[in-house]
Amino acid sequence: MTQQANLALLKNIRIVLVNTSHPGNIGAAARAMKNMGLSRLYLVQPKDFPSLEAISRSAGALDVLDDAVVVDDLSLAISDCVWVAGTSARLRTIEWPILEPRECVQTSLEFIEQGDIAIVFGRENSGLTNDELAKCNVLLHIPTNPDYSSLNLAAAVQVVSYELRLALSDEKIIKKKGKKHYQDVLADTEQLEGMYQHLQEALDSIDFFGSNNPDVIMRRLKGFFKRANTTQREVGIFRGICAAIQGKKFKR
Ligand code: SAH
Repeated sequence: MTQQANLALLKNIRIVLVNTSHPGNIGAAARAMKNMGLSRLYLVQPKDFPSLEAISRSAGALDVLDDAVVVDDLSLAISDCVWVAGTSARLRTIEWPILEPRECVQTSLEFIEQGDIAIVFGRENSGLTNDELAKCNVLLHIPTNPDYSSLNLAAAVQVVSYELRLALSDEKIIKKKGKKHYQDVLADTEQLEGMYQHLQEALDSIDFFGSNNPDVIMRRLKGFFKRANTTQREVGIFRGICAAIQGKKFKR
């Protein structure tokens, strides 16, 4: 594959900003993306967008802002993505694979030829919620001074965008990584959400949750399926199991 062809894969990457408070950060993130050849920006309930402040801080990356897709919920921004990384300034206590940017980008290259991938960035004041992280395959943490670990949102977008460009400029990497381990195609977020709903209904039908909060159990299960890089065929099997629990037949 030529270097040009690798860089064409930048089109398969979307940068998702969740609930951004400061429009200047949206503009600066658009600029950071365009510098590195990324163009697909998704905004989940931005506080103030479109805005003059975003335009001014984008320093001419107006095309990225113009083409930005604004949605109401993270699920809508990543519904057709095969692989999702969530970013975090803190090293969370939850059990999740935490990768540094270079490692994370290398991992993403295993999936990028199967469809779109997303890198999700959190709120300036509180980052991403645990529910949002449960929609991610991995957690990306940029190593920093532990006493001062939180980067400005757009600065974090810059670091990750740079690593993506660097990796896709390297001809060897994608040849080595591309599709090697995965015969079957990964399930996208929408397919997984369908399976989660089915699973919750099936478990409910046998009173599995009892007095426990279904949301807490479902969040753990969602994390499990995401971390396992669940494939479409596996979704079919699990939905078949759910249907059997419910005493129905499921058509794959
Ligand atoms: N107080 C928040 C900080 C959020 S910073 C918290 O503790 O989570 C805003 C966003 O910038 C984060 O959600 C993340 O997307 C990104 N970010 C900032 N510093 C980062 C770091 N060291 N590694 C990865 N992402 C980072």
